[in-house]
Amino acid sequence: MSNRLDQRGTSADHTDERPDYDHASNDVKRPALVSDLRERVDGDVRFDTYTRQLYATDASAYEETPIGVVFPTSTEDTAAVVSYCSGRGIPVLPRGAGTSLAGQAVNEAVVLDFTRHMDTIVSVDADARRAQVQSGVVLAELNEALSSHELKFAPDPAAGDRSVIGGAIGNNSTGAHSLEYGKTDAYVEECEVVLADGTVATLGDTDLDELRERADSDGTLLQRVYAEVVRVVDDEADEVRARFPELKRNVSGYNLDALVEEAEAGTVNLARLMAGSEGTLAVVTEATVALEPVPETKAVSLLFYESVLDAVTDVQYVLEHDPAAVELIDDVLIGLARGTADFEEIAALVPDDAQAGLLVEFYAEDEAHGRALTAGLLADRVSEGAGHAEQLEDRPDTEQPFSFAGVEAHSEADREQFWKLRKAGLPILLSRTSDEKHISFIEDCAIPPEHLPEFVERFQTLLEAKDRDVDAAFYAHAGPGVLHVRPLVNTKAAADRRDMVEIADAVTDFVVELGGSVSGEHGDGRARTQWNRKLYGDHLWNAFRDLKTAFDPDWLLNPGNVCGDHDMTEHLRYDGEYTYDAGFEPSLNWENENGMQGMVELCHGCGGCRGGQDTSGGVMCPTYRAADEEITTTRGRANLLRQAMSGDLPDDPTDDEFAEEVLDLCIGCKGCARDCPSEVDMAKLKTEVIHARHQEHGSSLRDKLFANFDALAPLGSALAPLSNLAQSVPGARTLAEKTLGIAREQALPEFQRETVHDWFESRGGAHVAEGDAERKVVFFVDSYTNYSHTEVGKATVRVLEAAGVHVRVAERTDSGRPALSKGFVEKSRDAVESNVAELAPYVRDGWDVVLAEPSDAVMFQSDALDLCDGPAVESLAANAYGVCEYLDAFRLGENVDWGPTTESVAYHGHCHQKAVKKDHHAVGVLRRAGYEVDPLDSGCCGMAGSFGYEAEHYSLSKSIGEILFEQIEASEATAVTAPGTSCRTQLSDDRIDAVAAESSLSGTTLDREEPPTPIELLDYCLAE
Ligand SMILES: Cc1cc2nc3c(=O)[nH]c(=O)nc-3n(C[C@H](O)[C@H](O)[C@H](O)COP(=O)(O)OP(=O)(O)OC[C@H]3O[C@@H](n4cnc5c(N)ncnc54)[C@H](O)[C@@H]3O)c2cc1C
Ligand code: SF4
Ligand code: SF4
Repeated sequence: MSNRLDQRGTSADHTDERPDYDHASNDVKRPALVSDLRERVDGDVRFDTYTRQLYATDASAYEETPIGVVFPTSTEDTAAVVSYCSGRGIPVLPRGAGTSLAGQAVNEAVVLDFTRHMDTIVSVDADARRAQVQSGVVLAELNEALSSHELKFAPDPAAGDRSVIGGAIGNNSTGAHSLEYGKTDAYVEECEVVLADGTVATLGDTDLDELRERADSDGTLLQRVYAEVVRVVDDEADEVRARFPELKRNVSGYNLDALVEEAEAGTVNLARLMAGSEGTLAVVTEATVALEPVPETKAVSLLFYESVLDAVTDVQYVLEHDPAAVELIDDVLIGLARGTADFEEIAALVPDDAQAGLLVEFYAEDEAHGRALTAGLLADRVSEGAGHAEQLEDRPDTEQPFSFAGVEAHSEADREQFWKLRKAGLPILLSRTSDEKHISFIEDCAIPPEHLPEFVERFQTLLEAKDRDVDAAFYAHAGPGVLHVRPLVNTKAAADRRDMVEIADAVTDFVVELGGSVSGEHGDGRARTQWNRKLYGDHLWNAFRDLKTAFDPDWLLNPGNVCGDHDMTEHLRYDGEYTYDAGFEPSLNWENENGMQGMVELCHGCGGCRGGQDTSGGVMCPTYRAADEEITTTRGRANLLRQAMSGDLPDDPTDDEFAEEVLDLCIGCKGCARDCPSEVDMAKLKTEVIHARHQEHGSSLRDKLFANFDALAPLGSALAPLSNLAQSVPGARTLAEKTLGIAREQALPEFQRETVHDWFESRGGAHVAEGDAERKVVFFVDSYTNYSHTEVGKATVRVLEAAGVHVRVAERTDSGRPALSKGFVEKSRDAVESNVAELAPYVRDGWDVVLAEPSDAVMFQSDALDLCDGPAVESLAANAYGVCEYLDAFRLGENVDWGPTTESVAYHGHCHQKAVKKDHHAVGVLRRAGYEVDPLDSGCCGMAGSFGYEAEHYSLSKSIGEILFEQIEASEATAVTAPGTSCRTQLSDDRIDAVAAESSLSGTTLDREEPPTPIELLDYCLAE
């Protein structure tokens, strides 16, 4: 982690606005709150404005600024904070990854963030199938650690790659396989907790008689809790049995049903009461959880129906086959599959008249068993086309709707395809850039499966009456009866907020009538707490409140939730008071995003940008993966940017402090544009803000130098090798660091005397005549390739020609990328306009444009459209290719004899190409040439253009690179290849050198530190 992050975290007293915080809006001042806490805990205590705003949101529609944030390192730290706060009437909110959807992870409280330090897997007892973990352990990381024992923590919430055990307990989380596994409460054996007065206790199985003996309503806090628990099992059992819905999934209220049921057997487990308590009863510091064996194999069927209603009606009959998961797929997802290249294979399996589907998964002992299970399901539930009517007649219950077609998947890859279709729902819902958004407030009602059809019908009628668009809204864990429905609501408008309440009120009525629950998955929080009273009735509502009072007499633990006084329309992130003013006119095109504001307000807080490389894969967000700080996530940046533009932060986003603290460490890798389900494009937002900052405050010499590489490079090349020698003069690098801020550890690119343009001319231009060519291209040789990495340019020409392509070299070398990456939008736009002027006529005449450097290719294909409008730039974008993409897309060079190449290479794609989903082409081309390729699921290399050259960024750049180094070291490949110049610079690190430099690829021993590009690997084959 960079030093600056450390410093910001611990010494930002100048931004600490609330050392005398007064939470109750009364006269009590707390002048020593921050210093007192710092004295008492080892972990960081941060009350600065930025940190507080970072923790003001979760994945819900709500926002409330906390008092401050503490990062405990131990149970003692936690107890010290709780004890201090309890004595002074200060609320406390325990928090995990903040992925809650109902607003239970935001409050005006001192937040305890367990994810930074309290994330240790204390022990695993594989024989007893049990693990002891601290509350900040990420579920996916726990499962990764358990995989060698073929065990897992079974509840599988969809956000499990970032959410943590404490959060799973807090929300009683569960996932698609709850039919098989139930909820988290079934797995909590024991919890170490800090009670509301700061005392530490261990909760677990306790004999009821023993509990009665220990209970004392005038005793210690724990004894009073026991007394209340005894009272509940003695006095409330009948009411609990009468009012709690009988469902596989109900996470509303406290788990009194489980308590009463346990009591019948004479033993109760108070640790299980923690599950679903949303941090309102006690703070969990450590938990012992039971584990399940990983299933041997799985089998999946996809059943098709003529309507959503048919599908949900069939759920109860599908359940008779004892599946592990039954998931609903609606017509919008099916439409998406039909219209999206990614789903081509699966779309081919979907019958024309399918309007809904049920994905049914079985756990099986082996493939034969899996096949038998799916065959049994298909035989029972599918009535094929013409035979449908007869088959219905044969059935005793003619009301049963049948699926009219079904398919099955057994290999892991095929099963993944089916699940991919199911999971495609959320991104559609969440990429709305308008004021109307698909808000989660009644999105996880649970209904007994036999009443699902009625619920769906009534729900649809209600929404139609409210004129609400519910497109793409019905996707669900249909098996346990949980439907995710998110109506479009503009919470900025008073009428919509009123509708929200009316819809929630009416839906609660349906739920109660049908024996369901208002929350089968995401908890009460701010959205649903107020409906618990109607769901359970006054009597149990008061019992919840009595239990809360017993645990937390002053109601200081996450107050307002479960049985508190939250009003669902208060503290909305976007409400009637919300205003937006960026403070500058945007300079890029934002038409597709509904204006820049659409993008600024797009992040919905799901925390997907907190996933690790090993567990989430992909690119987003490399800075969080290296620094482990919320401010280095896309979410952190997006939240702070929105808050700065809506007046919640005192700063203007172009101010020094904001630029340095919030945006400076975003490396512009575009990982979020690809991996974020809402497609938040932080790189583009950063460019806008930095551009505005240049306009208002000027720019540094270093920024200008990097942005003007195209102007400097010809000079460097003309003076080579002298220009290169300058760097090796003793003291030169130190001087560069002191004067320009260029990291002394980094060698700047070396210039070549002979440019690619010179070489092309000296060899007599094209070697494949236009008339003999399969295709003709203009090769745009970017500045780095032309003046520095000339081997790559030469290899590009040779390989294209070997593939029968006629090659011309463009005059210009500046793609506009260096200027854009430094926020010089006008300069970049000029470059794009000039490139369009030079190349559009070629494109009109049927030429293609090819680039060797991935980030420049993406500049042509994508970024240029942010800078310029019109058919010429659009047509250039559509006809520009990275070189491997070009070879792959047109299957060029398939007749070339690439020789007996069998070496194995690990391939690291460039993040910009990953962002536009074009990084896979190189793998295909190399494989066809004979290379064995290990395509790494890698993120950004950390170099990110000039980022790694900048002195203050060097250490973060290396930390990001470290993740890639580890992947390369873990690969069985003997060499590494990467198309990006920055990536190869990063990979010339000593450790990777050892692999790359000693490799003899296709007979060519590398005599340089950097690994080769894929195009060079192909070129080596030609040289053979
Ligand atoms: C895209 C997406 C998909 C989701 N899918 C699912 C799903 O399939 N199933 C599901 O159940 N949920 C789902 N959720 C909701 C949420 O991700 C889960 O409930 C998750 O387990 C919460 O974990 P967290 O670490 O983010 O907890 P947080 O949101 O940080 O906290 C959750 C609650 O637990 C409390 N808490 C946290 N730590 C402690 C502690 N140490 N002691 C006491 N209380 C604590 C908090 O106060 C809060 O009330 C989803 C959310 C998103 C954004
Ligand atoms: S940036 Fe994207 S992935 Fe991250 S929290 Fe926001 S919406 Fe989720
Ligand atoms: S551009 Fe890259 S570093 Fe910046 S927020 Fe997005 S994923 Fe993170």
